[in-house]
Amino acid sequence: MSQLSNIKTVREILSRHGFSFSKKLGQNFIVNPSVCPRIAELGGVGPDTGVLEIGPGVGVLTWELASRAKKVVAIELDQRLLPVLAQTLEEFHNVCVIQGDVLQIDLADLIQREFAGMEVVICANLPYYITSPILMRLLESKLPVRSITVMVQKEAAVRICAQPGSRQAGALSAAVRYYAQPQILFQVSRGSFLPAPEVDSAVIRLDVRQQPAVSPRDEALFFRVIRAGFSQRRKTLPNALSAGLGIDKAQAAAALERAGVPATARAEQLTLEDFCRLTSQIFEELFHKKV
Ligand code: SAM
Repeated sequence: MSQLSNIKTVREILSRHGFSFSKKLGQNFIVNPSVCPRIAELGGVGPDTGVLEIGPGVGVLTWELASRAKKVVAIELDQRLLPVLAQTLEEFHNVCVIQGDVLQIDLADLIQREFAGMEVVICANLPYYITSPILMRLLESKLPVRSITVMVQKEAAVRICAQPGSRQAGALSAAVRYYAQPQILFQVSRGSFLPAPEVDSAVIRLDVRQQPAVSPRDEALFFRVIRAGFSQRRKTLPNALSAGLGIDKAQAAAALERAGVPATARAEQLTLEDFCRLTSQIFEELFHKKV
């Protein structure tokens, strides 16, 4: 286990580099030595694996990944951390740090270039202010990765991994479940970070499906239907679909009936299969095409 994740060492390294934390960039670094080895192990990192890390910070998780993986590529937005990482990871020849914004970089191209012939996983302690955009970008890009193991806010973990039918289910959990099989691995208390955030955290793993869970007639419409369904939770489903999709309430009600979904149902009670059938029927309503 690396001595890096010790709070004293992290403080010393940061003060040597005159580093001050940026709240705006979600900088809460792990200082609990037991957390990173667990992320690396449960993330399935082994001698043949290529690992993409997002936001290495001072390199505490990167150290654990690099000591197990074939290769690690870490994307860090904050330029000030590059000299820190050069020092903390100097013993490794299998780590490449790229300065940039994970939301801007072409990740499919990066994976093809950096990890040719390797099985690829993603591991990270995510910057919490952009958890959903990052996860959706990783999933929607249909990257050739086996799994995504990330630390997120505890409440976000519950929402992301919510089962259809549960109160926490939403557009995000439906989208995640379409692309992957999610699970919460373990919880991490706020005291495990420097500086300590105001919330506890959890590590989740998304096992990416080879094929999406269902085959909607029109994928873009499928996601519009999901977003519309969840957008106005206090409205009935016909009203929410009508408002969200710009169709008549009668059309929405007819589509629901033909899809076998009760008009009184709430979006969180619908399975992906329900949304898939509903999409076909709304497609028919919109374009008058038989399915
Ligand atoms: N992995 C380190 C750890 O666990 O100690 C740091 C995690 S910290 C929660 C999030 C990291 O993501 C920070 O280093 C921050 O600078 C970086 N970051 C923030 N926004 C980013 C972005 N858009 N692209 C890449 N890195 C980003």
